[in-house]
Amino acid sequence: MLVGVPTETFPGETRVALTPAALPPFEKAGIDVIVQSGAGDAAGFPDEAFTEKNGRVGSRQDVFGADVVVQVRTLGANLERGRDDLDLLREGQVLIGFSDPLAHPEAAKDIAGRGVMSFSIELMPRITRAQSMDGLSSQATVGGYRAVLMAADALPKMFPMMTTAAGTIAPARVLVIGAGVAGLQAIATARRLGAVVEGYDVRPAVKEQVESLGAKFVELDLDTGDTETAGGYAKEMGEEQLRRQREGMARVVGASDAVVTTAQVQGKRAPMIVTADMVRGMSPGSVIVDMAAGQGGNCELSRPDEEVVEGGVRIFGPTNLPALAPFHASQMYSKNLQNFLLHLVKEGEVVIDPEDEIADGTLVTRGGEVVCPRVLEALGQGKAVAAS
Ligand code: NAD
Repeated sequence: MLVGVPTETFPGETRVALTPAALPPFEKAGIDVIVQSGAGDAAGFPDEAFTEKNGRVGSRQDVFGADVVVQVRTLGANLERGRDDLDLLREGQVLIGFSDPLAHPEAAKDIAGRGVMSFSIELMPRITRAQSMDGLSSQATVGGYRAVLMAADALPKMFPMMTTAAGTIAPARVLVIGAGVAGLQAIATARRLGAVVEGYDVRPAVKEQVESLGAKFVELDLDTGDTETAGGYAKEMGEEQLRRQREGMARVVGASDAVVTTAQVQGKRAPMIVTADMVRGMSPGSVIVDMAAGQGGNCELSRPDEEVVEGGVRIFGPTNLPALAPFHASQMYSKNLQNFLLHLVKEGEVVIDPEDEIADGTLVTRGGEVVCPRVLEALGQGKAVAAS
């Protein structure tokens, strides 16, 4: 079996889907790898690093000739440039990567039209067995880290407390909204830099995790009895709950030097938590980094990949933070793909066991059709399916 690794074409994407470390375990399993020349350059993995591990290097055409093509961003997550590759895909081929299938189900239809069997990494089930294949989590870890660095860099204050001959410097106050994978990493990073950190999440179950990182958990008086799906994702909140959340949040936001927002509800627009009024209640020079800017934003004023300044508050909406640490982001994603592919391949073939939650849960297209019920629902072609 041959696995192809094309260069990523999404603007600003620096990651590569496989790193050389994946090649020896693949070789053992009878899987060869061909990498497009230069695919790993931006992440710090030159062609020679792949050839040293018995990888081949070739053109984009060569790479798309492989049995399995692995990408960071397949068409659904690379809507413009991804189209150029559609003609290179062929029947019976396997395609694996991020594809944002619930937000862009029409792209899944185009992939299906090429007769390709495709898997979406976003749909990885949240079960213990799949943790090592969970690309959303690995990349969210990198994103949470980079978001705090962005805030620290933009803030005119230092993060740690310092007692110096020139006086005592008070530590910066950082608020992290949404304490999932990215949020917890943001909290940990801000703590390492010495800030006083508060964390908030609508799922009360995370209070302990926030506190174990040395941050204070913000308690708002909301009815949080039914805020989590069986799969560990947050449920969408009602308008009344969101309104009460905003009221309580205004006080905490106003007292913060830096706010990092990471709140997401899978397959839905991100909840708007930090209003324009709350921003106006912050001191000039304060910073907001909205990690959900690409999904509609947790802050009313953030714009994807732009800096907005309101009353002296700088608001950033980075949409591809993992690409700012591409070496480690690629290393982690590659490990996710390695584990996933080794899980799927039996005797040189990708085998789908309908009883296997991992293969079945991530499969989006097969035999010329979109087969994932949640993607079909997003296309308006299926019955309502509960988020898992
Ligand atoms: P996510 O990216 O979907 O959301 C980020 C956070 O935003 C979540 O914690 C969510 O509760 C929070 N949120 C949503 N709406 C909010 C609102 N209105 N106000 C405040 N916060 C809000 O989630 P994620 O980071 O991918 O993970 C969520 C949970 O799933 C975590 O507890 C994580 O540990 C768990 N998880 C488990 C596995 C596994 O077992 N394999 C894998 C990944 C994640």
